[in-house]
Amino acid sequence: MSGIYIHIPFCRQACHYCNFHFSVSHKNLDGYPDALIREAEMQKDFFHQNKATGIETLYLGGGTPSLLNNSDIDRILQKINRIFNIREGAEITMEANPDDLSLNGLRELKSIGINRLSIGIQSFHRGDLAYMNRIHSPDQALNSILNSRKAGFENIGIDLIYGTPGLSDQLWKENLKRVLEFDIPHVSAYALTVEPKTPLEYMIRKGTALPVDEEQSARQFDLMLQVLQQHDYLHYEISNFARPGCFSRHNMLYWTGASYLGLGPSAHSHLPGKRSWNVSNTTTYIRSVNDGIIPQETELLSEIQQFDEYVMTSLRTMWGCNLNYIKEKWSELSGENLELQAEKHIRNEMLIKKEGHLILTDRGKLFADGIASDLFRTD
Ligand code: SF4
Repeated sequence: MSGIYIHIPFCRQACHYCNFHFSVSHKNLDGYPDALIREAEMQKDFFHQNKATGIETLYLGGGTPSLLNNSDIDRILQKINRIFNIREGAEITMEANPDDLSLNGLRELKSIGINRLSIGIQSFHRGDLAYMNRIHSPDQALNSILNSRKAGFENIGIDLIYGTPGLSDQLWKENLKRVLEFDIPHVSAYALTVEPKTPLEYMIRKGTALPVDEEQSARQFDLMLQVLQQHDYLHYEISNFARPGCFSRHNMLYWTGASYLGLGPSAHSHLPGKRSWNVSNTTTYIRSVNDGIIPQETELLSEIQQFDEYVMTSLRTMWGCNLNYIKEKWSELSGENLELQAEKHIRNEMLIKKEGHLILTDRGKLFADGIASDLFRTD
């Protein structure tokens, strides 16, 4: 499996919690599609070995991809297809904000080949949206789902955020109820985190925004597990739930160590044993690409880094960490050491061992990062 990520670094308004690379200034917007296409042409040999089979997933993320004109999106897709050979039946996802999704616009997106939408709903409640400084209203959130369905999109994912100070458990349950009412096939749900250098961090420090309560986040995570699992959603990754067969094929690339190419400023790429990332500055990116240079840094991954990365990502999935795979890919000894390290977490009911896999329990999911780093190799 291999895929391509395309970063669109523009937004209409800055959400207070966001630390992605984006800009609310659109001065670079006009020249951006051409710069992306230029980078794609320069990267045409990225997947040497995968050329014969082609690309299975394409993901337009951001920022706000739905801020581009549909004609620009069409032009980008056509070029990418010509350069990289997108496979028949590939998953082609676009992230979109509810305020951008008119019925006509959605029909166009469908006709140019987008077959999966990831809608940044975050919440259906006005106060919650205001706390996060989201630009859309609750009505726009609802209409974006209705319009997507009317336009013929079946493969829809929505993003939700819990743990915001105004979100009582009752309001969170109502958000989850919307998921069930609309029978949304895929949900990505994140606990609100206060990232350094974001407006939210500044406002909390100055006392103009309420702080985040970790107990509330943990409680709402539990609530979400109960509600969604009771309604046949698979909790297939810590922050992701899906109806059977509706996993995000693109995100699976990230969690299985597959190869992917990232285009655009701040985008990351991965090949076995190697990762690279583009500069997180759109003006520098465009200038450099126009001069024929991809502004990126590359890191070769050591055996230990690859092991740790596998443990971290696999543990976050419902399939867990495959001990036989570890023994085959690294060594018998690394697998045995890992099993030894895992014992205390199994005793504490944070992990279970099932059919040769280490899998987080529901309780363990709350401490996933800490457990994974405890299992990292120390040699
Ligand atoms: S729309 Fe998305 S990328 Fe843009 S500021 Fe909000 S969360 Fe960040």
